Amino acid sequence: MKTHVKPDATPADKANDKACAKPERAIAHDCVLCGCCMELCPLFAATGREELSPRAKALLAGPSKFSAATLDENAVAELASLCLACGKCEKLCPQGVSVPKLVAALRAKHPDFRQWLWQQWITRLAPFWSLAARGAVLVPDMLAPAGLGLALKGLRGLRPGNGLRPWLTVTKFPAEAFRQQYGDRPVVLFDGCVGSGPRKVWAHTARFLLRGLGANLAEAAFSCCGSTLGVAGLPEDQDRARRANVDAWRKAGRPLLATSCATCRKGLADYVGAGLFADADEEKTWAEAVAPLSALLTGAQAKVGRGAPTIVGWHRSCHVDPQDSDFKLVSSLLGTRLRAPAKANCCGFGGIMQLSAPELSTKVGAACWEALDGALGFSAAPEVVGAFVLTGCSGCVMQLAATAPEQAQVGHWLEIVKTD
Ligand code: SF4
Ligand code: SF4
Repeated sequence: MKTHVKPDATPADKANDKACAKPERAIAHDCVLCGCCMELCPLFAATGREELSPRAKALLAGPSKFSAATLDENAVAELASLCLACGKCEKLCPQGVSVPKLVAALRAKHPDFRQWLWQQWITRLAPFWSLAARGAVLVPDMLAPAGLGLALKGLRGLRPGNGLRPWLTVTKFPAEAFRQQYGDRPVVLFDGCVGSGPRKVWAHTARFLLRGLGANLAEAAFSCCGSTLGVAGLPEDQDRARRANVDAWRKAGRPLLATSCATCRKGLADYVGAGLFADADEEKTWAEAVAPLSALLTGAQAKVGRGAPTIVGWHRSCHVDPQDSDFKLVSSLLGTRLRAPAKANCCGFGGIMQLSAPELSTKVGAACWEALDGALGFSAAPEVVGAFVLTGCSGCVMQLAATAPEQAQVGHWLEIVKTD
């Protein structure tokens, strides 16, 4: 039987794939209700509710002849917009249906106060995130405004000074391989909203690693990559952010764009095909310029120092690059100490979804921690195995911190790297 995994599916997606054949007779709308997308949807898996599955969303949000024209439009929009935008469904859809895009369009058509809140948070309040993270510690859970408890917990986890203690020393940089591939081409680090705000240590470490490679470091004034704005149904804000970033990249001489957040990388890669470039050559240059920092470090060697946990968990972001570069790098540096669940679970963040449906977001987060526990065994032997989990995405760090069991430690892989 033929499979329909998209070329950008990660190895974990492929491992999770089930063979799905096109039905013999396709119907007018793109979605043929085959259900291939169902098995990997984290929302459906955590709740067992078919109405939250991607198939239901495609049915409700699309212009299908099955569309629920007789149902209340606002209720349909509310239901169909309960989506984490993880993209697992679109990688498996034989018809090329992008449920996250359908949902984003639906959210744009039915704006509400949560979008306004998200828009303010991302576009206006980013410079104050560090302050907000410190302030979140002062708000007890019971006094958290309705629906914001989970977001506040995630914010607390990001407060400056609350990161992991570093214990990994890089002993060899693949500088020669880097020089051969990129020569003297300037490299700019795309810090991301968290890396340029409450977790400046990520940007500090990322620049240290780039210097170790001998990169010709340049600077550019980037804003949010825009992906979270698009997902939230704010296409104009997304377009503005994207255009500002392309301009900043041009002004910096079209450098290589090293990214340390998986979701930022995907957000930047998605600029291709969005009508943002002067011509096809410039678009191709952009597509080739966006690179995960971890991929640039392939071949690095490191020494594990004192204080390192005996077992380290790995959470794979849904937006990981097709080569799974973060995991490849970190597992090459940590060896068998690093363990990851066989199935790539979504953390349950989903940007605006954390605000819209915190109870669903928490449920997906709990399933993710259960899978991590299965791989690490920290609840069976808490005195031997601490729950210590690394990832490569800023949204995942926030959500895992918000849903973590007591005493768990969560951070970006950059936090364990020593820079002195
Ligand atoms: S969205 Fe794609 S995979 Fe899901 S039911 Fe429709 S056609 Fe099948
Ligand atoms: S994007 Fe993720 S959460 Fe949304 S429908 Fe698809 S698989 Fe489910």
